[in-house]
Amino acid sequence: MKYEAVIGLETHVQVRSASKMFCGCANEFGAEPNTNVCPVCMGYPGVLPVPNQEAILKTVKAGLLTNCRIAKFSKFDRKSYFYPDMPKNYQISQYDLPFCEAGYIHIGGTGFSGEPLPEKDIRLTRIHLEEDVAKLTHFGGVSGVDYNRAGVPLMEVVSEPDMRSADEAYAYLTGLKEIMQYGGIGDCDMEKGQMRCDVNISLRPVGQKEFGVKIELKNLNSFRAVHRAIDYEIWRQAEILDNGGSLRQETRGWNDDQGESYLMRTKESAHDYRYFPDPDLMPVTFTDEDIEKIRATLPELPDAMRRRFVETYAISEYDAQVMTGDRNLAAWFDEAAKSAKTPKLVANWISSELLRLLGEDKIAINECKITPAQLAELTNLISSGAISGKIGKDVFAEMYETGKSPADIVKEKGLSQVSDAGAIAQFVRQAIAENAKQVAEYKAGNPKVLQYFVGQVMKLSKGKANPQLVVGELKKALDA
Ligand code: ADP
Ligand code: ZN
Ligand code: MG
Repeated sequence: MKYEAVIGLETHVQVRSASKMFCGCANEFGAEPNTNVCPVCMGYPGVLPVPNQEAILKTVKAGLLTNCRIAKFSKFDRKSYFYPDMPKNYQISQYDLPFCEAGYIHIGGTGFSGEPLPEKDIRLTRIHLEEDVAKLTHFGGVSGVDYNRAGVPLMEVVSEPDMRSADEAYAYLTGLKEIMQYGGIGDCDMEKGQMRCDVNISLRPVGQKEFGVKIELKNLNSFRAVHRAIDYEIWRQAEILDNGGSLRQETRGWNDDQGESYLMRTKESAHDYRYFPDPDLMPVTFTDEDIEKIRATLPELPDAMRRRFVETYAISEYDAQVMTGDRNLAAWFDEAAKSAKTPKLVANWISSELLRLLGEDKIAINECKITPAQLAELTNLISSGAISGKIGKDVFAEMYETGKSPADIVKEKGLSQVSDAGAIAQFVRQAIAENAKQVAEYKAGNPKVLQYFVGQVMKLSKGKANPQLVVGELKKALDA
């Protein structure tokens, strides 16, 4: 039988902030375990939580950037459970009144598998703010707990079951991550656990309206793992249904090494979290005016930026996609393109040369020695004919190494393109004198030899002769 997959994602995103959600401890990854802790985030009795305004503001921004309705009145609730990663035995979260509800993220374009995606909006049920829990590490029969992560502000972004394939889920996550990064809300580095995703997936016969039984997949550590896990799960569930079996609601883990999901628990063992409003925390209120003020501070999102780049800089959709692949790169390109006579050239240099070198050296665009203005200057030197594209490559390499301006490099090394007809004619005469055989071939009617002479003249001029003038001078001399 043919099945359709129905997928909804629950994604946790750590909020970037100076301090934790309810105490003054640093919100910092990679510190010595259990050094960023205090009585509040360790759950000592008698302490009082103080909400982090920056984290609340960023959650509202996340909501606005994903087209959500922002709650004018919301509150924090206690979610009770007992586990070593949560010293208070409850997690401060939000239950029935989250900060953000009813938004959407647009997906479309080309999917991860290279197939076109349908243009559609994936609806968001809600975004709420909570505190992260400690990190458990298990090794050789021993378990360690690092409370540095306990209390870090964490958003949960819940989607409606609107996705129908692994590619759509991948595109949704990519869009979500872009929005978080562009909005300065979270860094979403999955390797650092700053973005974590649970996948809910069910199958239904094509044409059926009702959803099938939902399976929840946990422990997905990369977008690739999400993609693989969904494809695997679609296959696994279809096998069971095709063989006359039935599915039950369960939570499964994903083993990325083996490329398989495995049973973690069935619905019978579901928790009762006994949510209730946290009596230590005041409800949070916003006026329309507050919300409009926040809206006015929102940055331009990648979708809008891509459209602007295509329109104002006349670059291709594909180039625009590459330029906005990272917020810092987009800002860098934007600045360079503004002062370039031919912005398209700037995009070409970035995608063909700069990104390759940055990748090789594993450094970010902001650590690059070349400034946006310098790259623009280089492309201007090339488009005005002051240097050739070939020399441009050498100048670029030097710029990348030293951070010197292209004009200085050209001056120091005497690389200016030779556009003086007299000087070029001199090289042409020399090339003709040294290649009698090829001259004869040309005279015998073989036009391909002209290209050979262009090469010779370029060599004699050390690549500096203006190629168009070279062709003209050669024809003049050879046809004479
Ligand atoms: P629960 O009560 O188990 O938490 P929710 O209804 O709150 O379930 O949904 C949790 C997530 O599962 C959401 O992202 C939602 O879109 C998704 N979801 C709900 N039902 C299904 C289904 N039948 N198939 C796939 N995903 C689903
Ligand atoms: Zn603390
Ligand atoms: Mg739920």
